[in-house]
Amino acid sequence: KQPDLFVQAKAEIPMLRQKLHGKSYIYMNNAATALKPQRVIDALSHYYADYGVSIYRGTDEFAHKADVAFEGCRQRMAKYLNAPTAESIVFTRGTTAAINLVARSYGEAVINPGDEIIVSAMEHHANYLPWQQLCLRKNAKLVLAPLDKRGIIDLPALQKLLNDKVKIVAVAGVSNLMGACQDIAAICNLVHKFSPAVVSVDAAQWILHAKIDVQQLDCDFLAFSAHKLYGPTGLGCLYGKYDLLQAMSPLESGGEMVDKVDVYQSTFKDAPWKFEAGTMPIAEVIAFAAALDFVEQYELTSHNDYLTALTAYAVEKLSRLPHIKIYNPQNNASGIIAFNVAGVHPHDAASVFAKAGIGLRAGNHCAQPTLRWLQQENCLRCSLAFFNTVAEVDRLVETAATADDYLSVLFN
Ligand code: PMP
Repeated sequence: KQPDLFVQAKAEIPMLRQKLHGKSYIYMNNAATALKPQRVIDALSHYYADYGVSIYRGTDEFAHKADVAFEGCRQRMAKYLNAPTAESIVFTRGTTAAINLVARSYGEAVINPGDEIIVSAMEHHANYLPWQQLCLRKNAKLVLAPLDKRGIIDLPALQKLLNDKVKIVAVAGVSNLMGACQDIAAICNLVHKFSPAVVSVDAAQWILHAKIDVQQLDCDFLAFSAHKLYGPTGLGCLYGKYDLLQAMSPLESGGEMVDKVDVYQSTFKDAPWKFEAGTMPIAEVIAFAAALDFVEQYELTSHNDYLTALTAYAVEKLSRLPHIKIYNPQNNASGIIAFNVAGVHPHDAASVFAKAGIGLRAGNHCAQPTLRWLQQENCLRCSLAFFNTVAEVDRLVETAATADDYLSVLFN
């Protein structure tokens, strides 16, 4: 049964009252981005309409209000992640920018020729390419952690890969295509015990499904995007252990990140401000606090048993269809189902689902290493969230039943 809190939360999301091809819109592309509740949309317009001035660049009451709101969100974010201080939270453009910051700044400084960086085939391109390219620049070695058939990192095999040359281990808490959930606390423990490496966690998908406590995990860096957690686009967050952040050089230089600019030398502010050059996405940061209120009020990252049961129900029904192949039938906790319709290109199949009012994703999902591991070129991905219902899953399954004959569905 769908928890009452979830039914109440659903009523706050205007996009869920939209229609697609004349049918009520069924959104099953939650892993791409989360739809926004009205209070987030209102927080954006409240800032722009009522105190929409810049931060750190004005001295009047409006400027003060914006400064306080912006820094208040950093504190809110730190509390949400149980980070020890607000200063260990850097606002970025998104997960991608946060991971690139770690690779370009921390990675560039610590990786030497012959060093090793461990990733896995479950990584999104945003947590694969920055490390691959760093290895190429530095003549270091990219090592792939062995996985079991669900896409979960095999911990004893990971332990065997750890040695003094390993300087960074970069893993996603939940993978965006297979929905594999990694045991990040155990990975951090192993890595810190058997190597000098730091653990950089891509939490872009994980942040939706768990209450993350960075101190308990003992991860060194953790990145995610606001837009996947019901917040605005264009904003992400990098948590880093403060001594690591403080030792890192800024990637971008410009307004407000600097302390003293001499003719030929300059000194920079402390972390996190030295990483926040130029005018920041002020409205987005402020509105993200409203998204966190939404998530906490309706306990959206708890009650994961509802999402797990709904996903298991969908998997069970879909796998009865002979022309449907599911690649991750065991990973139900993240709401993600990766599948194909036999003989039908995923883009064509996605049009059949769209005609039935269902939004999902087709293609390579920015996860070519994962598809290579699956020996596929592309696939469909349905990603469920707290607001999806059994009736919606039934419509998904009924549509999937017709998708093998997609030409007659699309042209009749
Ligand atoms: N990592 C994972 C696991 C993701 O799912 C995504 C978003 N698809 C990203 C990284 C990149 O996030 P963004 O595009 O918001 O920077």
